[in-house]
Amino acid sequence: MSAPVDPTRCPLCGQSNQCSQADPTRAGEACWCFTTKVDPAALQRVPPPAIDRACLCPRCAQALPSDAPT
Ligand SMILES: [Zn+2]
Repeated sequence: MSAPVDPTRCPLCGQSNQCSQADPTRAGEACWCFTTKVDPAALQRVPPPAIDRACLCPRCAQALPSDAPT
């Protein structure tokens, strides 16, 4: 079984998604995702349990290469 979906973390890379909507202390603020174009290919990689629950992080949403490859 997979871990429960954490709405504050990116379902693709596990990093903080920086979503203001998932943080009660910032819930009125505009999220970065309102103005950033999300790559459709990135959305297709989101695991079904995380769809509509967890946001992508800015890096994954734009399909940018990681600056910290493992
Ligand atoms: Zn990510």
